Amino acid sequence: MSYEIDKPDEQWRTELTPAEYQVLRQSGTEPAYVGEYTDTKAEGVYSCRACGAELFRSDTKFESHCGWPSFYDPKDSAAVELLEDRSHGMARTEVRCARCGSHLGHVFEGEGYPTPTDQRYCINSISLRLIPGEG
Ligand SMILES: [Zn+2]
Repeated sequence: MSYEIDKPDEQWRTELTPAEYQVLRQSGTEPAYVGEYTDTKAEGVYSCRACGAELFRSDTKFESHCGWPSFYDPKDSAAVELLEDRSHGMARTEVRCARCGSHLGHVFEGEGYPTPTDQRYCINSISLRLIPGEG
């Protein structure tokens, strides 16, 4: 898989903070409940912190109480890429930015949240940047 934004690892390393690099480029997970957007209700568009692609809108963000920002639908389905993830002894679906391939989080479904899609895009705050405006 090649991405529209394709930078050598060394370049990502210099452009991102160590914490951003660890999550975005090494599929890390930030600790629960500490991310800057966990409880954010501001209107706007959440873009990829690595490449700036628009990924989620604030009007699909909901309170999941899981400790990470949660959305029930991406802004455009083509904005994210979904990949099977069998790491850590679990079968999960990884969510990546479709433009640069950076790791965003995971998507879960069928959990019973009262949302239109019954999906929970569980996304690391540090993978996102909120651009305030109309959600
Ligand atoms: Zn990106």
